[in-house]
Amino acid sequence: MKPQAVTAARRGLLACHVCMLVSHPGRELDHVCCPRCGAALHVRKPDSIARTWAFLSAAIILYIPANVLPMTDVRTLFGNTEDTIMSGVVYLWTSGSWPLAVIVFVASIMVPMLKIMALVFLLVSVQMRSVWQPVQRTRLYRLIELVGRWSMLDIFVIAFLVALVQLRALATIKAGPAAACFGAVVVLTMCATLSFDPRLIWDPVEDDHG
Ligand SMILES: [Zn+2]
Repeated sequence: MKPQAVTAARRGLLACHVCMLVSHPGRELDHVCCPRCGAALHVRKPDSIARTWAFLSAAIILYIPANVLPMTDVRTLFGNTEDTIMSGVVYLWTSGSWPLAVIVFVASIMVPMLKIMALVFLLVSVQMRSVWQPVQRTRLYRLIELVGRWSMLDIFVIAFLVALVQLRALATIKAGPAAACFGAVVVLTMCATLSFDPRLIWDPVEDDHG
């Protein structure tokens, strides 16, 4: 016998986001608290789409200064050099440390851009109540969630570069204004990912089935 699919929402059940306890809230669906841990319960994350758009638009706006403003400010006896993320990548590539160049390019330019594009795609598809490839879209969401944890890689690369240059003592290296913007982009895309409710992908599919 095939297991029958039943959604908690259709059965009038709510799952706690904190302790995962499933409970029956009764008739009243506003301001329900988890009977075990007291956390607020919701059928879906509140204002998921609006909040995700808000975090995402802020991330898109800050992505521009993160790439245009200098990321590192290197001062040596011979003068100052300021590098943006891209010029840093080019510098690393031409100076022979191409593995580092690839890491910085993937972590700081490609991953945040793909992440923003994927979230925009998920939001638009959910808003259009699309029933197209829900499994693939759920997988995409899981991938974005997984990648989020590694996005701070670039900050580590800067820390690593700073340590490397400071060792030579003749140069000082500082993080430029783009570093703060970049950190904000990473945090904002993480917040956007968290406020997106992947169950919204499945709601139109469930409605279609009756
Ligand atoms: Zn709970």
